[in-house]
Amino acid sequence: MKPAYIRANSVTHALEIIGDRWVLMLLQQAFFGVRRFDDFQRRLGLARSTLTQRLKHLVEHGLFERRPLDARQWRHEYRLTVKGLDLFSAALMCEAWQRNWAADDRQLALRLIHRDCGHAMEPILTCSTCNDPVEARDVAYCDGPGASWTVRGLPRRRRSSSDSSMPRSVPVSAELLELLGDRWTPQVAAVAFFGVRRFDAMRESLKLATNILSDRLKRLVDLGIFETRIYQDRPLRLEYVLTPKGLALYPILLTLMDWGDRWIEHEAGPPLLLTHRPCASRLVTSVVCDQCGGPLLRDNVLPQFQPSRRRATGS
Ligand SMILES: [Zn+2]
Ligand SMILES: [Zn+2]
Repeated sequence: MKPAYIRANSVTHALEIIGDRWVLMLLQQAFFGVRRFDDFQRRLGLARSTLTQRLKHLVEHGLFERRPLDARQWRHEYRLTVKGLDLFSAALMCEAWQRNWAADDRQLALRLIHRDCGHAMEPILTCSTCNDPVEARDVAYCDGPGASWTVRGLPRRRRSSSDSSMPRSVPVSAELLELLGDRWTPQVAAVAFFGVRRFDAMRESLKLATNILSDRLKRLVDLGIFETRIYQDRPLRLEYVLTPKGLALYPILLTLMDWGDRWIEHEAGPPLLLTHRPCASRLVTSVVCDQCGGPLLRDNVLPQFQPSRRRATGS
């Protein structure tokens, strides 16, 4: 098998752990307070063997902790660890993206209430130094002490979960699952934030097989994350430019990178250093409430489910 060379950064490492659609849905359910095997199974409707395998994966990577519920240890519950809970910022950024950009009709709309101020709010990503919202164009990158190239095997595409088996009542958009539930798709989007736009440069940057890159680029164009522009007529050459919907993915990638920096061991330190240009500081992000500016944490955000539009007109 030909090895694939991936520029090692914390997004890559984070996606190796959570870049799977069932893992993402399990994490979301855990943030809603679900802990037991049967409850996960009932809510997500996945095969027991698939659930067992994904729970094992989450425990092995230290995101869930398996605790006995009775002295005989016949039944267990799965709780988010501190490392798992630390993905909450990324989960909030996913929620914000879905709300604003996902094209599919989510059957259950979710409102987020900030307990500290009592308002329904939008989570926003800000710079902890100057408190301004963080936008991709305001961030500069340079290699950190842990920058390196890693050698990995080519990815196995997990195809076990077919789209038709996805329960419709779960408020994760199919678009977001498609974007993040695969190791390569978000990385192809991520290199665009480094200004890489052309096919050959992307292939070089990701060390990705041509067919895999073509496939993911096509999906990203179909999903409205990239638009193509002609930069050469003969022969025809296209470049891939992030749309506003694509640019809006930036806070998700940044919170995943932050999480990876905190939790995944890099021998020499973080692989990438970020600077917030407006305040010229090393970028440290916070997720805050757009109503009061206060920090959003797992215990001060209350998810509130709204009835679907169809039911809202009845009873
Ligand atoms: Zn700043
Ligand atoms: Zn607030």
